[in-house]
Amino acid sequence: MKYIGAHVSAAGGVENVPKRAHKIGAKAFALFTKNQRRWEGPPLTKENIEGFKAGCEEFGYSMDQVIPHDSYLINLGHPEEQQLQKSRNAFLDEMQRCEQLGINLLNFHPGNHLDKMSVEKCLDRNAESLNWALKQTEGVTAVIENTAGQGTSVGYKFEYLARIIDQVDDKGRIGICIDTCHAFAAGYDLSTEKGYEAMWKKFEEKIGFEYLKGMHLNDSQKALGSRVDRHDNIGEGNIGLKGFKLLMQDNRFDDIPMILETPNTERWPQEIEMLYELVDE
Ligand SMILES: [Zn+2]
Ligand SMILES: [Zn+2]
Repeated sequence: MKYIGAHVSAAGGVENVPKRAHKIGAKAFALFTKNQRRWEGPPLTKENIEGFKAGCEEFGYSMDQVIPHDSYLINLGHPEEQQLQKSRNAFLDEMQRCEQLGINLLNFHPGNHLDKMSVEKCLDRNAESLNWALKQTEGVTAVIENTAGQGTSVGYKFEYLARIIDQVDDKGRIGICIDTCHAFAAGYDLSTEKGYEAMWKKFEEKIGFEYLKGMHLNDSQKALGSRVDRHDNIGEGNIGLKGFKLLMQDNRFDDIPMILETPNTERWPQEIEMLYELVDE
């Protein structure tokens, strides 16, 4: 079965998220466990933790359907030592928050090389950071999101993601989240049947479906291969409904959280419904 949902606001505390997700008809959700634009957040309180767990229970969310996103500030491939350590500490804190909430997955972007190191070196540094954080935590899988390749961000090709995975010691706690907008902007044409098949064949070859732990469902405002990251509402961008229909009818994507990050959040209930209609169409 497909678990389609959205990245829901955690305003007022993470304990509010499950109810908000339920309200829009989501069967999965993403969230920030702290303010995503700040380095530090207040520690989670007992009220946050117990409220979150109770909400998941009440509204029927298993921890396989919950995939938080880390802060946008974190760069696990940072070329400068001091900044790298700052990012590592913040990432560890995010992993520990997941542990506290009983969450199994944490989605993050591989870092930016900032034109100060090679792509390969930046990828290797990401892997070192992951080994460092995974050793200090338990039970949480670090889930790398493919990027659009905008600016100096690494990780827009499957080969690059594979290079990170190859160097992670604990293969059982590393995964991939494919963002459809980022993939399209990076040059994977999932808007046509032929392009779609080629994309996932490549994914299987380079990475393997056993690593796929989640998806972000976004259409793309920008062109194929533009390497510009601009999300669009489903069916209104350059991927179009056809691409999403292919995804919805593909059982390789059963049982993983599929998360909307589309710009018009008021439309999420309709988008979720529409995607479920595509499953049976
Ligand atoms: Zn992301
Ligand atoms: Zn995304």
